[in-house]
Amino acid sequence: MAADLTAKNANALQFIEEMTRNVDVVQQRVLAEILSQNSETEYLKGFGLGGATDREAYKSKIPMTKYEDIQPLIQRIANGDRSPILSARPISEFLTSSGTSAGERKLMPSIKEEWSRRQLLYSLLMPVMDQYVKGLDKGKGLYFYFIKAETKTPGGLLARPVLTSYYKSDLFKTRPYDPFNVYTSPNEAILCEDNSQSMYAQMLCGLYERRQVLRIGAVFASGLSRAIRFLQLNWKTLARDIRTGSVSPKFTDPSLRDCMARIMRPDPELADFITRECEKDVWEGIVTRIWPNAKYLDVIVTGAMAQYIPTLDYYSGGLPKSCSMYASSECYFGLNLKPMCDPSEVSYTIMPNMGYFEFLSGGGELVELADVEVGEEYELVVTTYSGLCRYRVGDILRVTGFHNSAPGFRFVRRKNVLLSVDSDKTDEAELQAAVEKASGLLGKATSVVEYTSYAETKTAPGHYVIYWELMGELAPEEGAVERCCLAMEEALNAVYRQGRAADGSIGALEIRLVRSGTFEELMDYALSKGASINQYKVPRCVTSAPIIELLDARVVSSHFSPSAPRWSPERRF
Ligand code: AMP
Repeated sequence: MAADLTAKNANALQFIEEMTRNVDVVQQRVLAEILSQNSETEYLKGFGLGGATDREAYKSKIPMTKYEDIQPLIQRIANGDRSPILSARPISEFLTSSGTSAGERKLMPSIKEEWSRRQLLYSLLMPVMDQYVKGLDKGKGLYFYFIKAETKTPGGLLARPVLTSYYKSDLFKTRPYDPFNVYTSPNEAILCEDNSQSMYAQMLCGLYERRQVLRIGAVFASGLSRAIRFLQLNWKTLARDIRTGSVSPKFTDPSLRDCMARIMRPDPELADFITRECEKDVWEGIVTRIWPNAKYLDVIVTGAMAQYIPTLDYYSGGLPKSCSMYASSECYFGLNLKPMCDPSEVSYTIMPNMGYFEFLSGGGELVELADVEVGEEYELVVTTYSGLCRYRVGDILRVTGFHNSAPGFRFVRRKNVLLSVDSDKTDEAELQAAVEKASGLLGKATSVVEYTSYAETKTAPGHYVIYWELMGELAPEEGAVERCCLAMEEALNAVYRQGRAADGSIGALEIRLVRSGTFEELMDYALSKGASINQYKVPRCVTSAPIIELLDARVVSSHFSPSAPRWSPERRF
């Protein structure tokens, strides 16, 4: 490795050491910086902080907040009010979170300067990885990255997901050459708004360079599982294009088309190889057969994504899975200092320079980053340079240990999420409302007595399965339950509908009708496992295999949504 690369990596590791040795000092400094930068904001002045920059004043004057508390202020910024409301620095755009409020993505304010902080966190990932896997500068990464549609607020600010903003920024597009971060996907493919053209191009490029590929990834495990499924459905066309070297008419995006014209070349040998491997009935280990030099999968498999581990293991023959970072639209948090560890062991170390972090304990106490206790669970609360103050992110984390004085956190779960197959997060109230809306279509003779659900992710893309037990003499008329499926989808939040309608990352919702008495059997089963009869409630989501088997054994008929629900990038402001 060239000397300057060694030095660059060593500097990054040195930075991590400094940050993790001085957690509390850095946190104090970060809070002071944020508060002095924002001392004149309407928000901080409104609580009478009076320019103070110390923790005690901050904690005594500024309350903990949820999105709904600050939503009216966000709305004013969205409408074009440029006065310093939350942030003294101009809000440059809104980052749209996959968490929703009243069915729409939450809008997180962002300032230009924030990108250098986020970039700094990205720059630490490969130096950490290089400690465990050598030679990653000698090949490429096959990463499936996508952008999503963006929209403008009434006041003219862009609103888009954080990664869309990043991929479209010069930081990404004109990044300097770094041998550790060479991707097979050209920028034109990542930046193509049409997901299916983008996927097709990224897969083609990954196939052409299959021997150079040293790691394969996507942001979340759901994305990688979808890419494998895409190969399964499209290998014949991909092999044909590779055989002839001609540019597929699929590429209607002009810049992607030009780019692919430069890349495509006839390679009959490769086409034969792909055909031989893909036409086999068994797809076990397909990833390592096609990309024999891949050393690991770089995807998040923690939190809700853990459900994809068996699928990824099957297709990759158990390649190690690396979860490198923990981040959100609100703030980037930290990284996994042991990226090659088993998914069940993943801990993220929050970098104290990214924002000011507090931890809400079960007892309602807010604890400093340096003071959390091993084994305890906390909800993450952030104060950001962009103007969020003591904001509840909704993630529940458990402290696993310390690196120097920096705690490591296991991602336990996201609060209130019942169902998730991709970045969608459906809570119990949303599911209930959707069931109520849909069951209204059944007519007077029939109604839903009980329901539960589960996220089916063994097939890609994953989809929601809703079990319904009906009451009534009459079976629903032909097509009625299908209409209920669609009505449920229409009633779900914008992230779900976008995944279904625009990204293809969520499959059609399925209602399985179960025979009468099934939910009583479900209760009997729970009681036999020790549940108390007085406290028994029908679970609105089931995850354990025996319960799913019990339900599936009683299915009378199964129905799918016949079309995608409505979704448009425009939103209600
Ligand atoms: P978003 O709100 O769309 O910006 O997504 C951020 C959320 O995704 C976080 O608050 C977490 O709930 C989840 N998330 C991000 N990184 C990870 C990770 N490494 N493991 C598990 N969940 C994650």
